[in-house]
Amino acid sequence: MKLAFWRKSSPDDEKRVAETITPASNPLANVLRRFTAPEPDWREIEDALLASDVGLAAATALIQAARDVDGGSGRARVRAAALGLLGGSAASQQEEADVVLLVGVNGVGKTTTAAKLASRAKAAGLVPLLVAADTFRAAAIDQLRALGVREGVEVVEGRQGGDPAAAIHDALTLAAARDFTPVIIDTAGRMQTRSGLMDELAKIRRVVTKVAPTRTVEVLLVLDGTAGQNGLAQARGFDASAGINGIVLTKLDSGARGGVAFAVQRELGLPIRWIGTGERSTDLVPFAPEAYVDGLLGASTAP
Ligand code: GDP
Ligand code: MG
Repeated sequence: MKLAFWRKSSPDDEKRVAETITPASNPLANVLRRFTAPEPDWREIEDALLASDVGLAAATALIQAARDVDGGSGRARVRAAALGLLGGSAASQQEEADVVLLVGVNGVGKTTTAAKLASRAKAAGLVPLLVAADTFRAAAIDQLRALGVREGVEVVEGRQGGDPAAAIHDALTLAAARDFTPVIIDTAGRMQTRSGLMDELAKIRRVVTKVAPTRTVEVLLVLDGTAGQNGLAQARGFDASAGINGIVLTKLDSGARGGVAFAVQRELGLPIRWIGTGERSTDLVPFAPEAYVDGLLGASTAP
């Protein structure tokens, strides 16, 4: 399947990933900078990984893999292990998806991300369609309408209090008639513990398959990068109901310690597709494992 241009990482995107992931106080970068010898203090590195939100299971796996790497400095060994855990650059290879469904709990950045994806697709020459399927709150529909106007992207609006699946049905019909692609669907925030709302997601997923059987569908779970390990429980619940294809990790610019990407990958085996790097419509870039790891480990100055 061909790679869609708008989903590919450009050199500028990769620069942005590395810049966003490198906080001045990154504990991991600070520790690794000192370990130019092959045998570092693994204990100290593990502590730094935990302080970076990597999580215990992923940190343990990472240290084990790094110890198994032959040769190189301590940093080089951690780097190789980290890339292995993230699936190397293969994880950035994204297949075409012409329906993107955004799901997640409240406030993580679903609506913002929908508009950012539309903006990016439009900049790449596509004609995207946004779908306001968060029918719980009128404000949510207003928010996406305003973002659509700002980006010059058409928005299909659900009826407040109505069935989100109905809005999605209408949008996919319109998309087929007028050749919109990709179709980007914003949904209402929901807790993974509320089974009625999880059933609703499963229904939405079925409607998409039924109305647009030939379109490739990608269900993206939006996770707030500053929420640390909480995201893992959310991902498990959503994956069980809606079948998650990948993760959008938002707010990596605002105090997220970044390491949560490892935890997500290790615990859930789900690829991180995009990362949110700010509040502007251009602040969304494809996840680039190498740039991410170099940011986290403190790239260029160390050997
Ligand atoms: P939703 O409830 O999941 O739809 O969340 P929204 O899209 O409404 O976003 C909630 C808040 O998070 C808004 O103030 C967004 O501007 C903000 N936000 C979303 N993504 C990012 C990001 O990558 N970085 C920063 N700093 N803020 C973000
Ligand atoms: Mg929203």
